[in-house]
Amino acid sequence: MQEDPDRARRDESMQRRVDEHGVPDGVVEEGWQELVTAPAAPPEGGHDLPQVAPAPEAANVTGTAQALTLERKALQLGPLEKVYVYWMAGMSCDGCSISVLGATQPPIEALLTGAVPGIPRLILHHPVLAVDAGEAFVKHFEDAWHGKLDAPYVIVLEGSVPDEKLSGDGWFSAMGTGGLNESGAGRPTVMNEWLARLAPGAAAAIAIGTCATWGGIPAAAGNPTGSMSLMDFLGKDYQSTFGLPVINVPGCAPQGDNFTETVAAVLLFLQGLGPLPEFDELGRPAWLFGETVHRRCNRGGYYEEGVFADHYGGQECLVEVGCWGPVVQCNITGRGAINHVGGCMNVGGICIGCTMPGFPDKFTPFYKAAPGSLVSSTASRVMGSGIRRLRELSRNDRNREPLWDKQAAVPSGWARHQHQPTAAGKAMHFFYDKLQYAGGERPGRTGADEQYRADGQYRADGHAGAGNGTGPTGT
Ligand code: SF4
Repeated sequence: MQEDPDRARRDESMQRRVDEHGVPDGVVEEGWQELVTAPAAPPEGGHDLPQVAPAPEAANVTGTAQALTLERKALQLGPLEKVYVYWMAGMSCDGCSISVLGATQPPIEALLTGAVPGIPRLILHHPVLAVDAGEAFVKHFEDAWHGKLDAPYVIVLEGSVPDEKLSGDGWFSAMGTGGLNESGAGRPTVMNEWLARLAPGAAAAIAIGTCATWGGIPAAAGNPTGSMSLMDFLGKDYQSTFGLPVINVPGCAPQGDNFTETVAAVLLFLQGLGPLPEFDELGRPAWLFGETVHRRCNRGGYYEEGVFADHYGGQECLVEVGCWGPVVQCNITGRGAINHVGGCMNVGGICIGCTMPGFPDKFTPFYKAAPGSLVSSTASRVMGSGIRRLRELSRNDRNREPLWDKQAAVPSGWARHQHQPTAAGKAMHFFYDKLQYAGGERPGRTGADEQYRADGQYRADGHAGAGNGTGPTGT
């Protein structure tokens, strides 16, 4: 294994996180250093499974102490036939799981069956979706911890990580029972402990949903759990065995396709078939979270023209009833909620900033106009009211055939189209028209580009007018 000069610093940082945030005392003191000595980057030509700590006298899920022997196995870096996924839930509502089940690009079932070309099959161990239950389910996680897998594994965390030091005699979030030594016998295994066991050896650690990515609702002001994100728990020095920091796919609940697409992109990388996808400075997939909600909102035109809704569900821009879209990085307006359908502003709801690290505290109170929105919406209202009227002039003019202008009549049985422009309207249009085309080329059949239609001439440079007569109709 290659020497990693940063290893000691990372180990120390990891240990500090766990000490600070609550793996119960006496659980990880032995074997901890071995637990975090997974390679930071794949060695040339192959990849080692993490060196998982030989467990001291361990209490297994039935409470029987046994010595666990560990093996190290070497794996080639791609092509992989399968990858294990260990889905863990901390302080969570399971909404992220529901979102992922609704994904269509690609659907989760395509990833599980290996139906996506080039991507290894996923073997998913999920606390809600698994067929196994109880000890049989937890054993899969223990196999990963003890290095018994025949393929790399990825961990996914849904929900935030509570500070178990604050849980007193109880616990906030746990899965299975037992611990590394006798002090843990019979007690629930807290999620922090599972993370400490599995994160160092994971090929990638993915936080899904805002609770796991930034702490979210469980970390809001006044919470008694001291909840934090996966990044906060693992620390900035954390790297997976493939050298990746925590990958964050935020949203409350997240857009399911954002997760499956990111997983697919990372798997192609692990497979050696694709580059490492681009992530931003907070580990978000850059191609998904690089733009604001506002830029892709189908109400953006209303904002620009200064037309605002005064109630939820109105068809106009919702900024004055509390939409934070202009500053929030999310693609829900472009991608929709499921299969390009639905999604916050698309269905009349406002953006409350659920994908952002400052959520929820920095976005409350919800459903009130955001600070600063008064300045921008007033500016839009002033500018927009003028621009809207000018556009109306152009629209009315373009709604008439040139022939109708000549005849000063519209041969439509629909009354709405039969009205004639007023004298004032004609005058405004005349001057606006001059302004629009001042110094510019006038398009349309009266423009120079169209003259060849009349005289059969076509210029050598491709433009109409007097030329060599080799144009479309000039030969
Ligand atoms: Fe922007 Fe929100 Fe208005 Fe859409 S509804 S245009 S996101 S402010």
